[in-house]
Amino acid sequence: MQSPPLGEFALIAQLAQVFGPAPPGVVQGIGDDCAVLALNPEQYLLWTIDSLIEGIHFDLAYMSLKQLGRKALAVNLSDIAAMGGEPQYALLSIGWPPDRELNGALEVAAGLQEIADQYAVRLIGGDTVRSPAGLMLGLTVLGSIRPEELLCRHGAQVGNLIYVTGPLGEAAAGLEVLRRGIALSPELEATVLGAFLDPQPQLPAGRCLAQNHLATALIDLSDGVASDLFHICTRSRVGARLHALQMPISAALSQVAARLHRDPLDLALKGGEDYQLLFTAPPHQESRLRQCFQAANLPPPLAIGQIIAGDRVYLETQEGLRDISGAGFEHFLAPTNE
Ligand code: ADP
Ligand code: MG
Repeated sequence: MQSPPLGEFALIAQLAQVFGPAPPGVVQGIGDDCAVLALNPEQYLLWTIDSLIEGIHFDLAYMSLKQLGRKALAVNLSDIAAMGGEPQYALLSIGWPPDRELNGALEVAAGLQEIADQYAVRLIGGDTVRSPAGLMLGLTVLGSIRPEELLCRHGAQVGNLIYVTGPLGEAAAGLEVLRRGIALSPELEATVLGAFLDPQPQLPAGRCLAQNHLATALIDLSDGVASDLFHICTRSRVGARLHALQMPISAALSQVAARLHRDPLDLALKGGEDYQLLFTAPPHQESRLRQCFQAANLPPPLAIGQIIAGDRVYLETQEGLRDISGAGFEHFLAPTNE
């Protein structure tokens, strides 16, 4: 009998049923950005895995092998940032197509090592196989955090403000520019192509939130705010209201969106791969939050809405409230219209 088509998140929920609840010693199992293991009373281990597949996550027509290596590690480190942790070690799995020059794998490695150096991560193992279906990279990253600093997707409370660490939608715009072969000024190109091709994991911001106990919940933005905020809401059993006028849409995004005939707000809400952090914090922390970010030389966090009772994510626009719960990138489903 044919089962009804499952989306990525429904499938993960069903996999979690098959695998059962997290055993003792596992602080967070399936459902957060990293698995969290209680190593000893002073240290939790953070463990994450992410894959990049040719044709889905990247196209070597518009990305060099070195850029691919940089991005593969950066997006994995982003999940460590999403717990407030510090990354330490990585394992690399390479699936290499038989028709591609094998030496190219060393260019991937050079890109990876650049990001590893930048964030003091050591590559200490992996696996190398032939992949006739296209190039595939799988990264596993290990990190750590003190138990009292851990930040999860659950923990958001009604009345909390919702913040992001930087502008949204630029990576999605960059991808569309590349796909459609649109020529831009060097400045605009650097901004939107840079956002897509060379995302920076927000590790310093994650550490700042964790060390100063500033946030109640934290996630990184890989699938778009509408989708990723919905994960925080689901795990925290709350709803959220975003304000369209407060969405951090840069001047660069507005200009590029006009060239693409796209709504910049739409790109900011549903475009994936920003790899900024989204977090919730009580309003009384606002001034401390700003002070801590400033002291750490980080750009000020941007408030985009608040946590409300319920279980939906709404966008407040001049026309009224729109339910945008879960709208964003999902593997196995066509892009959503809302
Ligand atoms: P992220 O975008 O932060 O990497 P995902 O959306 O990929 O997170 O995954 C959400 C949660 O589901 C994570 O806790 C992850 O470990 C878990 N997960 C995803 N795929 C699987 C799988 N095939 N088996 C078990 N757990 C999975
Ligand atoms: Mg994540």
